[in-house]
Amino acid sequence: MKPAFKACFLALSCVATLSLHAQLHYTLTYTDSSAESVRITIKPAAALPTPVVFIMPRSVPGNYDVTKYDAFVEELTANGIDGSKTAFIKNSYGAPRWECRDSNIRVRSISYVINLKKMDEQLHAASDKSIIRPGFAGLLNYSVFGWIENHAGDAVTCTIRSFASWPIFSTLCPSGTPARGMLEFTATDYYTLADAQTYLGPSFRVREYPALVPLFVADYTEGAMGYMDDYAWEETTSMKILNDYFGKIPFPCYTVLFRETVPASGDDPGNFGMEHLQSSTFFGDTSGIHAAKADEKVLWRRLPGYLHHMAHAYIPLRCYGDTYRPYVLEIPPVIHNIWFNEGFMWYLVYDTLKQQDWLRFFKSSVYNGPADICNMTLTQLSETASTQYAEDFRLGTAVFSRGALMAAEINDYLLGHTGGRVSMRTVYRNLYEWAERNRRPFTMDEFPKLLKEATGLDVSEIYRKWQGPVENR
Ligand SMILES: [Zn+2]
Repeated sequence: MKPAFKACFLALSCVATLSLHAQLHYTLTYTDSSAESVRITIKPAAALPTPVVFIMPRSVPGNYDVTKYDAFVEELTANGIDGSKTAFIKNSYGAPRWECRDSNIRVRSISYVINLKKMDEQLHAASDKSIIRPGFAGLLNYSVFGWIENHAGDAVTCTIRSFASWPIFSTLCPSGTPARGMLEFTATDYYTLADAQTYLGPSFRVREYPALVPLFVADYTEGAMGYMDDYAWEETTSMKILNDYFGKIPFPCYTVLFRETVPASGDDPGNFGMEHLQSSTFFGDTSGIHAAKADEKVLWRRLPGYLHHMAHAYIPLRCYGDTYRPYVLEIPPVIHNIWFNEGFMWYLVYDTLKQQDWLRFFKSSVYNGPADICNMTLTQLSETASTQYAEDFRLGTAVFSRGALMAAEINDYLLGHTGGRVSMRTVYRNLYEWAERNRRPFTMDEFPKLLKEATGLDVSEIYRKWQGPVENR
């Protein structure tokens, strides 16, 4: 499809299937800016018998962390078909779940409030939290939407309500001219809803740009404005590179969001990006914003972070293994192959851009790292980074750098043994196609065999070598 036709199709899809297949209706309301909170209602297609269990996520794919979003849930109530209201009881073992056991009611809907002021004060990484600022609410859907047990797979309709004059933007239903006051859209299931992000208010800007698929750039910069055309250049260039590399684009449209704020005291100033199925969000403080047009040399130098996060739409969000899942979870998993998710996708950046600084960075992170990290096996390092990846970024950089250097060595071997015919690009394409065909995660035992199937060559010796501590190589 031509991009213009595709945009049209997308706009229709926001409303066309409303109510036809919907099982669950989520409503988010933000109409009281003094309250610094949002109210959420979840209404199943039919009233539910008790017990009804409500769960908030603690694990977000790609965050490699434990984030207790359950700490910000207030006024959780079951609304009975008879008009009664019953409180939920929080799990006594500390799980992020609540239960309504009242056997006298049938639950028509549940409702709760997310206290965003408390979230802003208690979470210190910008990439973990939703925020409210004058004229703006920036919501990470997984921080505000939970799910009803046994209903996470049901089709969803969602309504966002705010002040009548406020534009509302969702990455699930993107538009360069956002609806005002109310937006309705559908999602395949709760997990797809939770993966998306929502911007509200007159203080953010959004534009649509022509690209291989429709591209949207949404920017909120506190007290300033980022230079959106350069952001669009980074994304359209990334899309072209990935289309050439994989031979296809996995998403129907793409949104890049920026959220640059003045950090509160105690906030982590780290600049991080978060990847999603058809979007990525970049967080930072306002000191590093790009407010004016840059020359092309500078744009190429800035490209790696954008390219890496868009590449995640292929790996690991649509091609993944072990215990990683591309959706939110109640219990954060211990993952044994973060070196694949992150390292292989940082190697892709080096493989396509050939910026030598990256190779030097990978080597320095691996060989000049602290002894405690060098002494870990690759599996131990990945397990440790599963919940501390960015919190102690020595772990994050070490695990992705080891993965990137493993990929570099495999690439050299493949090129050298096939006269340049087979490379890591062959590996990536085959793994991605395997995931499309099989629609399941690969196991750690399977992975070396998949490398062999992809290339016809045995790289198991290189793979085995990289599993050990750094000192053993
Ligand atoms: Zn990454």
